[in-house]
Amino acid sequence: MKYTLAIAGVCALSLGCAPAPSSSAPTAAGAKAFLDTTNATTLKLGIQQGEAGWVQQTFITDDTEAIAARASQAANEAGAKFARESVQYDSVQVSADERRQLNLLKVALVLATPSDPKESDELSKIMARLESTYGKGKWCADAAKPESCKNIDDVSRILSSPGDERRLRDAWEGWHRISPPMRKDYQRFVELSNKGAKELGFANTGAMWRSKYDMPPDQFTKELDRLWEQVRPLYLKLHAYVRMKLHDKYGDVVPASGPIPAHLLGNLWAQDWLNIYPLVAPPKADPGFSLTDILKKRKTQPLDMVRMGERFYTSLGFAGLPKTFFDRSLFVRPKDREVVCHASAWDIDSADDIRIKMCIEPTAEDFSTIHHELGHNFYQRAYKGLPVLFRDSANDGFHEAIGDTIALSVTPEYLVRIGLLDKAPDTSRDIGLLLNKALEKIAFLPFGLLIDQWRWQVFDGEIAPAQYNKAWWDLKLKYQGVAPPSARGEEFFDPGAKYHVPDNTPYTRYFLADILQFQFHRALAKTAGCTLPLNRCSIYESKAAGDRLNTMLSMGQSKPWPDALEALTGSRQMDATAILDYFAPLSKWLDEQLKDKPVGW
Ligand SMILES: [Zn+2]
Repeated sequence: MKYTLAIAGVCALSLGCAPAPSSSAPTAAGAKAFLDTTNATTLKLGIQQGEAGWVQQTFITDDTEAIAARASQAANEAGAKFARESVQYDSVQVSADERRQLNLLKVALVLATPSDPKESDELSKIMARLESTYGKGKWCADAAKPESCKNIDDVSRILSSPGDERRLRDAWEGWHRISPPMRKDYQRFVELSNKGAKELGFANTGAMWRSKYDMPPDQFTKELDRLWEQVRPLYLKLHAYVRMKLHDKYGDVVPASGPIPAHLLGNLWAQDWLNIYPLVAPPKADPGFSLTDILKKRKTQPLDMVRMGERFYTSLGFAGLPKTFFDRSLFVRPKDREVVCHASAWDIDSADDIRIKMCIEPTAEDFSTIHHELGHNFYQRAYKGLPVLFRDSANDGFHEAIGDTIALSVTPEYLVRIGLLDKAPDTSRDIGLLLNKALEKIAFLPFGLLIDQWRWQVFDGEIAPAQYNKAWWDLKLKYQGVAPPSARGEEFFDPGAKYHVPDNTPYTRYFLADILQFQFHRALAKTAGCTLPLNRCSIYESKAAGDRLNTMLSMGQSKPWPDALEALTGSRQMDATAILDYFAPLSKWLDEQLKDKPVGW
């Protein structure tokens, strides 16, 4: 029936053609018409969603929120409908491009609702409840005093300031009290979403998520294990060094040879450890210059910083940004209204109406973030000529990886070339910078992996509801070498205290992006002919690297991701050894610090 409706739509719109084939078997012509409608509708609804979302985030009111929510709902419902309809063409003979588009529709869903309307309704209510329980989550140290209640930002701020162990533990435990009420809902969500996934032909929701990666789901799981094994030895060293420093700081609360308590790593989920850098910084960590100071002293304006970012890409051979980018982007926090300042890149019309939204300050961090966000924009513009369903990154790890790849090229040598710095400091000063980056990128890897390890096992039943919390901490221990500050029985539901679990956002993409960015950087640096240590290579002004990059970007997701990876790196396999190359000087330094010290837990 739904198939009929879709085709009827096309006829009415464009041709006024013959009546739709209401009962006949699906044909190749039907598949083509279905894809035409789907591409056109996806584009139309995507533009409406983009416009509404942009206004909502740059002008937050109850009205703009309602408008944006309606546009998102329309786009999501259409996506779900197309996914269900695409199944009808499973055995129809179509071209390879059409087959790929049909498959992409099927694997695009994150949540498959069951066809039973009662169950579908129950699932929507559960999802809304899970999300709002997290969104409204607060830690109230004294229930009688509402002014003592702290939201996620307040709690994160406490966790990010190392020092008072007791205060950190209270805040950590306090935040983890928001999630036990989610447990029953989560269990039911797993049952219902699995039912929906089975109706689409997947074994369960986790298998549906893993089917996005152009290989059998189980093979993909093995790929992740392989990548993790490549970087694990470096992670173990970083873990051991940080543990040693935290032991010095906090005494026996941090065991000399066991797992690190989760509340002492500067982050609620111990997912990145940047905030404890002052506790672990090496002597002589000063890189010899401060980009933030330079930008401030020169009174560099937000627009100037964006123009420098743009110049990076034009130096690689990309066309400059369109005038509308500068007219419509948001670079400065407006004084007269509420906006979402979290930096993001937008692609409103899936073609040339690209924008960034960020509240730029003259800091080294924002300078690097501009390069990152523009990476998304140049990716979006590179694939704009493809059918709408192909206008996305090769797999979901690629988009973030591109932005970060470019940010890795923001090196002292690059700053010299664009005139912000007189002379690059010698590489003996790199340990501080590398350790800082390792606390962000290496510390993240096991966390990026374990969230979905837990969910995949929950979805396939290997982790029973009665073991949700135990299994969570078993994985935290296995991958991160992190332990809870106090006993965590099944009366808790600690996975729910991380946004992406109640929000049901897959997480493996962040692990992939973390691996891929170094692989991309190494390949592009080689193409650019860089002979410096990898952490000092910038591809700025390399047309050869720009060509390679553009070849991959312009493929969008029209081909399986190994094809795209090969276009850029020459290899069809993801490879984490570029991380080892990049951090080689740090790895050697860690070896020296860890002489006779325990490694592992
Ligand atoms: Zn990004």
